[in-house]
Amino acid sequence: LRQVSMRIGGVIQEILPMIRNEALLHNVTVIYYPKPEMPPILADKELLKQVFLNLGKNAIEAMDGGGTLIIRECSSSEEPGRITVEFRDTGPGIPADVLDKVFDPFFTTKPQGTGLGLSVCQRIVDDLGGSIEVTSDGYGTLFVVGLPCS
Ligand code: ADP
Ligand code: MG
Repeated sequence: LRQVSMRIGGVIQEILPMIRNEALLHNVTVIYYPKPEMPPILADKELLKQVFLNLGKNAIEAMDGGGTLIIRECSSSEEPGRITVEFRDTGPGIPADVLDKVFDPFFTTKPQGTGLGLSVCQRIVDDLGGSIEVTSDGYGTLFVVGLPCS
């Protein structure tokens, strides 16, 4: 783990072209809301890119036939030591009984899935001292990655 001080916006800018390419192939619109003056975080850039790529890929795969992926940076004065990045999609959502299992290694609902993407995401985010949470309401899915500021 090589932890360096960096801006989250720079990390997202590096994966956005790949996500946009993949989205184009699946009729998915990607909307990115950067936030100016985000506090720097302490992270390993390559590992963090892997987290965001996995979340983007899952969202696009969930929206068979098209939809919208919104990526949003957030920080709040109420929680000055932490920033968040949201991945929100307009896919089918995740049923409540499945929601508990999505971070389990090898859990997949895809015929060709490995079920490793989210367990790797969780492991990386844990190692960085952050958090990853998922909610779903049947109209889509929201993953929120929380990361400590440097
Ligand atoms: P894989 O993509 O190989 O199936 P993951 O660990 O990345 O493995 O995801 C595990 C499971 O979580 C997926 O098979 C899918 O059922 C569910 N999932 C993850 N992200 C989403 C999403 N954005 N919308 C709906 N389901 C999702
Ligand atoms: Mg996956």
